[in-house]
Amino acid sequence: MENNDLKHPLRAIAIGFLVLVALLIGYGAIRANWRKTHDNPTPKYIFLFIGDGMGNSHVCATESYLSWKKGKLGGEQLLFTQFPQLALASTYSADHQVTCSSAAATAFSSGVKTNNNYIGVDPDRNPTRPFSMDLHEQGYRVGIMSSVPINHATPAAFYAHSASRWGYYPITLELPASGYEFFAGPGFCEWTGADNDQMPTETYLASKGYPIAWGEKEFREKMKTEQHLIFCQENNRGKSADDYTIDYDSTWVSLGGMLELGLEYLGDKDPFFILCEGGEIDWCAHENSVYPMVQAIRRFDDAVRVAYDFYLAHPDETLIVVTADHETGGLAVGYNFDWQFSVQDWKKLEDRWIADGCTDTMPHAERLRWQQECGFGWTTNEHTGAPVPVYAVGKGAERFHGRIDNTDIPRLIQGKSITGR
Ligand SMILES: [Zn+2]
Repeated sequence: MENNDLKHPLRAIAIGFLVLVALLIGYGAIRANWRKTHDNPTPKYIFLFIGDGMGNSHVCATESYLSWKKGKLGGEQLLFTQFPQLALASTYSADHQVTCSSAAATAFSSGVKTNNNYIGVDPDRNPTRPFSMDLHEQGYRVGIMSSVPINHATPAAFYAHSASRWGYYPITLELPASGYEFFAGPGFCEWTGADNDQMPTETYLASKGYPIAWGEKEFREKMKTEQHLIFCQENNRGKSADDYTIDYDSTWVSLGGMLELGLEYLGDKDPFFILCEGGEIDWCAHENSVYPMVQAIRRFDDAVRVAYDFYLAHPDETLIVVTADHETGGLAVGYNFDWQFSVQDWKKLEDRWIADGCTDTMPHAERLRWQQECGFGWTTNEHTGAPVPVYAVGKGAERFHGRIDNTDIPRLIQGKSITGR
């Protein structure tokens, strides 16, 4: 008995000690995990949305349309304009006040100003390093998607290096070296090399471990086994992208749909970086067509909503940044020369588009005049040097505020310091 009496307190102390050690180990593990999430300035899940050519007036016109649909003059907002953080980014390139998409995309991907038409190389033609490649090395899975071809300027700046953005086939040849897990878009520009004697794009990509899945059904089959996968729109073999249209091919998977597929494929176990481009916003603006441009921005906003739903499920670990590479068209919400405020006649615009079978059949000069009557003016069918808005929500979003430069965006996403911050 005496012996047992002595043993009981000792046993109790030993058990207490072991429990304490276990609790400390458990706390340490929880704390380490917490620190990994909260102390790392780079968010675990990153979405970068580029509305190609989407300037402030394009966003304003879209919200004007949404308000008109509700019988109001204003007040209706896109989802991304409701994000808490807003900055304004300058867009000039290394050799022009007015940038092209490839120089701007190089600024986003690598934080380097380069010349117009250069892609993933600096002004001396040295390759630049996309930050998505650094993230990939750190264990991030990477998805690159666009509503225009996968080897177009904006997506290409995240994997290719070329002094000519127009060399689509050589750009495609660089895709597999990225090691990124997922690509998506309508298709590719140039399905064979210039001499027609090189390996077809689809064969080449498959030989490097990047098979193409045509359409959603095939994608769902292949995603079960493939380590890398490219989604292209069904029945679009040999073609690149539809012309812009307000009546987007309803058999196609939308940009938001491609993002859903990407999220399903990438999963949320590992960190990821996703680039998502609304490319046809720019194409509509080059054509100076306000009505289809507005519909393109609405589809882009639908894709942002997919990311936003993901953010709501992972609010402490997700960053969403929405911006543009430049403004296209010099769009003005307002056109009048007789000292009267213009009226935005959305009904007239919409009725005409529907009556025309939702295609842009009007000659350019007539289209400009028609839109002026409806209260919209365009100054160019090219890009302009206007700064663009940057919207952000989520982890690290507070870093996006005030006046920034487009080259700051990759640094701000990763929580690295920029001049003046
Ligand atoms: Zn453009």
